[in-house]
Amino acid sequence: MHFESLGLSPALLRALADQGYNEPTPIQAAAIPVVLEGHDLLASAQTGTGKTAGFSLPMLERLFPNGQRPTSGRPRKPRALVLTPTRELAAQVHDSVRDYSKFLTVYSTTIFGGVGMGNQIQNLRRGVDIVIATPGRLIDHMQQRHIDLSGIEILVLDEADRMLDMGFLPALKRVISAMPQQRQTLLFSATFAPAIKALASQFMHNPKEVEV
Ligand code: AMP
Repeated sequence: MHFESLGLSPALLRALADQGYNEPTPIQAAAIPVVLEGHDLLASAQTGTGKTAGFSLPMLERLFPNGQRPTSGRPRKPRALVLTPTRELAAQVHDSVRDYSKFLTVYSTTIFGGVGMGNQIQNLRRGVDIVIATPGRLIDHMQQRHIDLSGIEILVLDEADRMLDMGFLPALKRVISAMPQQRQTLLFSATFAPAIKALASQFMHNPKEVEV
């Protein structure tokens, strides 16, 4: 199996070659085509399986088909939101998104607690395509109207089980209620515990399930 056969464009394939990735991991081989087709995805995958590329690559392809920006310049509102349980994971996901999009023009930023709001506000004001955030600090920015989620096309819930364990369910509900119903939702979790299934049935549309 090769990345070429999964439907990713040349700019992404070149970035993967630069990363030294020769072939997709099982979660990538299963998830990428499903996401490219526009389906919601409910995926069980532990850290270390390559799940970050499993959602980042098809997310980039859908936001920038064939590497093209739909409009020139910075966007007015973010088009994709990745939620993670911790700031460390948000930073890691951001690094990966930057690596995979090195041959595209993509504006992205992280939003997490424990640091000042000022830089985050500035980055949001400048305009970004992709926001990678922890739920608590994102709510702070929403309350202060620093971010408008009405243009979100793709929502990724990364390590959703950990977010629930950390008590983020009310925050997730608030964030999701601020974005369009018509969007693509990708949920990654180590397990499909009942609370994850409940989240999926409330906020996802006929998700395809992938377990590796
Ligand atoms: P993740 O599970 O997303 O945290 O990824 C675990 C590690 O695997 C990261 O260091 C990735 O850079 C690496 N990785 C992801 N996909 C591949 C691949 N297809 N080939 C080789 N390494 C990969």
